[in-house]
Amino acid sequence: MRDIDKIYIDGQFVTPRGKEKADLYNPSTEEKIGVVQLAGVEDAREAIAAAKRAFPAFSRTAKAERIGMLKRLNAAVTARVSDLTEAMALEYGAPQTFTRFAIPHATSSFLTMASVLEGYEFERHMGRARVVMQPAGVAAAITPWNSNIGFVTSKLATAIAAGSTVVIKPSEMSAIQTQVLAECLHEAGLPKGVFNIINGLGHVVGAELSRHPDIAKVSFTGSTAVGREILRSAAETFKRVTLELGGKGPNIILDDADLNVAIPAVLRMGFINSGQACIAGTRILVPKHRLDEVLGRLKQEVETFKVGAPANPDVVIGPMVSQKQYDRVQSYIELGTREGASLLTGGLGRPIGLERGWFTKPTIFMDVNNQMRIAREEIFGPVLSVIAYSDESEAVSIANDTPYGLQAYLHGTDASRLQALADRLDSGRVVINGAPHEPLAPFGGFKQSGIGREYGVFGLEAFLEPKAVIA
Ligand code: NAD
Repeated sequence: MRDIDKIYIDGQFVTPRGKEKADLYNPSTEEKIGVVQLAGVEDAREAIAAAKRAFPAFSRTAKAERIGMLKRLNAAVTARVSDLTEAMALEYGAPQTFTRFAIPHATSSFLTMASVLEGYEFERHMGRARVVMQPAGVAAAITPWNSNIGFVTSKLATAIAAGSTVVIKPSEMSAIQTQVLAECLHEAGLPKGVFNIINGLGHVVGAELSRHPDIAKVSFTGSTAVGREILRSAAETFKRVTLELGGKGPNIILDDADLNVAIPAVLRMGFINSGQACIAGTRILVPKHRLDEVLGRLKQEVETFKVGAPANPDVVIGPMVSQKQYDRVQSYIELGTREGASLLTGGLGRPIGLERGWFTKPTIFMDVNNQMRIAREEIFGPVLSVIAYSDESEAVSIANDTPYGLQAYLHGTDASRLQALADRLDSGRVVINGAPHEPLAPFGGFKQSGIGREYGVFGLEAFLEPKAVIA
């Protein structure tokens, strides 16, 4: 049993004043594995005050100093990669197929930001003006449970690069992962108050960060519903807000696609992070004349996917994070059938042989149209929909007919046609033929997938305000 009873404020691990506690579970076994003592509003205010005290000196540090800090943070986190991986497997059920990408992605975010910072000019001239990019002020970072370590490190790296101090509120369901990460970050020896990390409930600590007048900038990753609430309360004091929200990504197979290449790529991105990913390509768009062939290949391939606990390296799909998330995914599987879609594979209940743990069968619906709720709403589990299209224009219009616009996928063999199609999609990112993640490129969404961009120069500038000095 883990007892997480500390938060990190002003360079120290301290006991929260908040009295509420939350239980922590192993989603692979449903066993309670720990308790976290949650921060309250008073703790949030103390963390904000610490970040505010640290801001004047930190915002004036030289670029080279901050590059040094980012390198130290990278070294400190890299030193405990195996503890971080273990925590992610225990508390979140992340399969090794995911942690093999997620942990290096998290540790490298400091070095990526260091390289962005190296090449970034904080001053430029425009006409008669000297334009200075100045840190906006104390930042708040609020993150979800589905890739806790990576979201915390990338937001922290960007804040440090910008010269912003920050209060981080990770998901209360990720307290063990947060504890290991906070211990690593502490080892980097940054000035006290530069970053503060507090576990707490969204409507308590998250809400305080979104409304407190001393917070100038909120960087939020999470659901569209909570993003809307944060935007509303941030409006009172005109905070700068970056919102990374939900998605319902189109995964488009073109008529010239080589299915030997496309089918594994489609499923990899459909079921990424056990389906608990905003970037999942959950709507598989298939040309009508190749539908039977594609359905056959999808079914064949999915039925080889191993579902189970992360200890087994062959597992591709781990458990849902909680009973609530398991129930939500089950309710969407039920809904799909009620809406008139048919199951190609998967369905209700746990996979055979997995009686304990919040495991869901990887499920694919066919006979889906884009107006069904299973095609419009984010399910956040391993449930995909196949939608047939007759020509390229219809594929584009189905792809864009969604409230979201985070990440789209194209699969085909004609490079110039793929580039031209990418230009027609309303999506923050378009990934061609399963290309790997690019950490220097902007990440974020059109429409209800969010506001603003993270990563690279775009991410850095979201923490800065331009100031024109005219002489
Ligand atoms: P969530 O929105 O419920 O919670 C996210 C964070 O916000 C948590 O730390 C939570 O405590 C906090 N929060 C909750 N209510 C709040 C409030 N009123 N004020 C301030 N903070 C509050 O999301 P979740 O269930 O943790 O994560 C799943 C969601 O995150 C999915 O919708 C998914 O699409 C989204 N997500 C988006 C991205 C992206 O980059 N676009 C990445 C991962 C996850």
